[in-house]
Amino acid sequence: MQTGDAHPDLAEMDLAALEDAVAAHGYPRFHGRQIFGWIHRHGVTDPEEMSNLSAELRVALAGAYRLTTPKVLSRDRSSDGTEKFLLELADHRRIESVFIPDTPAMTFCVSTQVGCAMACAFCLTGKMGLLRNMTAGEIVGQVRVLAAATGLQSSAFNIVLMGMGEPLHNYDETMKALRMLADEHGMAVPMRRITLSTVGVLPALERLGHEPLMPNLAVSLHAPTDAQRGALVPLNRKYGVEDIIAACKRFPVKRRSRITFEYVLLAGVNDSVGDARKLASLLTGIKAKVNVIPLNPAPGIPFDRPTDAVIDRFARTLAERGVVVSVRKSRGRDIRAACGQLIVEGRLESPAQRLAAIAFQG
Ligand code: SAH
Repeated sequence: MQTGDAHPDLAEMDLAALEDAVAAHGYPRFHGRQIFGWIHRHGVTDPEEMSNLSAELRVALAGAYRLTTPKVLSRDRSSDGTEKFLLELADHRRIESVFIPDTPAMTFCVSTQVGCAMACAFCLTGKMGLLRNMTAGEIVGQVRVLAAATGLQSSAFNIVLMGMGEPLHNYDETMKALRMLADEHGMAVPMRRITLSTVGVLPALERLGHEPLMPNLAVSLHAPTDAQRGALVPLNRKYGVEDIIAACKRFPVKRRSRITFEYVLLAGVNDSVGDARKLASLLTGIKAKVNVIPLNPAPGIPFDRPTDAVIDRFARTLAERGVVVSVRKSRGRDIRAACGQLIVEGRLESPAQRLAAIAFQG
């Protein structure tokens, strides 16, 4: 198998690109579909294993292309069954992906960037800064690896783009990844099983509203006013609460579907009855559901998780006003796989990350 840029990566190629590639080598186009199926349906990581291709074609593939697959460096299992995977990409950058079983669906929480540029005040990934975008092949590669590792290759599963990174800050590769995941000759994941979570990159959200293949949408709102949200989400200075709500009202929500509003609950910051009331009136006229996420605290994160009574009161205030609401049960906290706890602790990449890691060691 080849390495290096001179050898295009089969994992980055969608079905049409693979068909074009085999045709360019003088083979019938249907071999492209076979190769795509081997990689995405069967999880094969070496063309040698593509047993229905001729030996000659396998040799041609191995000579002209590479096939990269994220490598599992470690796999931690939480007492609740959640598993955190530390994966290494071809350039040795590391990312994390999480498997959350029985919610009741099987769910893969995947990353779209190495690190994140959004720097939300309560999120550990934000402390890493953005190291680079992930490619479509790497985003899909996580799902290939997790499906194989969990034995779910021929089962139905959900995918949430809620790992490291801001998917709408890496728009083209994320959308290409979704198209590859949905391809009926590969994993054939239906869009209703995929949720894209964004902090509200509005021009990209508008673009998403015009895509032929559209995932479910989750918006990380976290506060009902600009004053509060601006202190938590730096991007709010560019795209404020009113603009986000207006964009959501324009967003083409599918029948029987709702936009999820994620709301990380922080003690004494955004958890009052007044905040819940403001949130409820903000969402009037939107097919919405609110997902309350009590903060997963971590050293270096200057906020606290509210008490259960306050969490309850917040959710009840919303429900009393007719808002569909759920409180996210925190999964995998003992292995730091919960929301906002994904940070690569292995090779230290930035001063902020080093600080966070030192804080962990306490
Ligand atoms: N950038 C996207 C995708 C990340 S999703 C987004 O912001 O939506 C991760 C979700 O977990 C987001 O809603 C994020 O706000 C939330 N989160 C981040 N840090 C958290 C923490 N410490 N505790 C609980 N949730 C957190």
